[in-house]
Amino acid sequence: MSAENKYLPQDRNGRFFRAIEEAGEFLQAVGKGGRFGFDNRHPDRFETNAEEIRRELLDLRVALDALLPDIDAEIARQKAAAP
Ligand SMILES: [Mg+2]
Repeated sequence: MSAENKYLPQDRNGRFFRAIEEAGEFLQAVGKGGRFGFDNRHPDRFETNAEEIRRELLDLRVALDALLPDIDAEIARQKAAAP
């Protein structure tokens, strides 16, 4: 396992928790942009709030894309088990 993959979730629960974490980061960035301005930036950071929102949105999209097959598998399992 490469160093980059070391923190990637290996099971469904992990993928759910990763999506929740990324959703929280996205919401925090949107809240900060709405509160302080989308063209504003934290004094210690190089990104504007709009750039941070975009980065977090992409993180969230990757996490959701990784989770979607788990949800599809669960739905398929439910349909197969239905009478
Ligand atoms: Mg993130």
